[in-house]
Amino acid sequence: MTHPFDLTGRVALVTGANTGIGRAIAVALAEAGADVALVGRSPADETAAAVAAAGRRSIQVRADLATIAPVQDVVDRTLAELDGLDILVNNAGIIRRADAVDFSEADWDAVVDTNLKSVFFLCQAAGRQMIAKGRGKIVNIASLLSFQGGIRVPSYTASKSGVAGLTKLLANEWAAKGVNVNAIAPGYIATNNTAALQADETRNRQIVERIPAGRWGAPADLGGAAVFLASAASDYVNGHILAVDGGWLAR
Ligand code: NAP
Repeated sequence: MTHPFDLTGRVALVTGANTGIGRAIAVALAEAGADVALVGRSPADETAAAVAAAGRRSIQVRADLATIAPVQDVVDRTLAELDGLDILVNNAGIIRRADAVDFSEADWDAVVDTNLKSVFFLCQAAGRQMIAKGRGKIVNIASLLSFQGGIRVPSYTASKSGVAGLTKLLANEWAAKGVNVNAIAPGYIATNNTAALQADETRNRQIVERIPAGRWGAPADLGGAAVFLASAASDYVNGHILAVDGGWLAR
């Protein structure tokens, strides 16, 4: 009997796969059996080496997802070079910090365009393929700020709250067509994105004290959730935002 978490023969597309959470998810999917398109604006050689070490194929597709211009090409190259597209992980994202009274239009547009607009159009382009095939898995990377307000990050909070809403809308439209759309909401994960917080002694202590698990998450902590939502194990899970946060939201 096939293991329900087995991804052998599946093709995944992961954005922002060169570092942090995206790299860890790409490697976890490969270790579960998937071939992976590594999509982003920087070379992803280390991720490609880890995918190869897991015995799977990868391609690198260079794309700046600050606009939706590369979206169709990213999907087309994955289909052409890896012979399919079964799993989409929308991970690429940015954050800008400033007081709401001073927040600039440029910082609004940059974050919303990357974190929300490109995510929707990637879901649309991949979703069309998946619907035609009657099968697919989409995993969007949301945030604790899909549930909470945060502070000094208005465009990030708006974008990640939007990702949660979009995940549910697409689940409603596509669940009956065989496409599962879900999201992962990472808690405080030690990556480039959170380097400033980790380096700030006071903030770091406050954060760790509030996390029931008593530690920052590592990118690899997201791997299991991603494999679950990409595999047959989650076939009856639709529109769910899965917090992987060491218990932060339970507090
Ligand atoms: P990271 O280390 O900064 O990685 C972000 C990734 O997104 C990088 O691969 C980056 O590429 C890519 N990216 C950013 N802008 C892009 C663009 N215009 N086009 C293509 N790729 C782009 O951060 P991370 O913590 O792993 O974050 C990954 C995701 O998790 C993000 O959506 C983030 O919001 C979310 N998240 C993180 C945390 C956390 O605690 N770390 C918590 C909640 C949610 P470059 O390396 O080329 O910049």
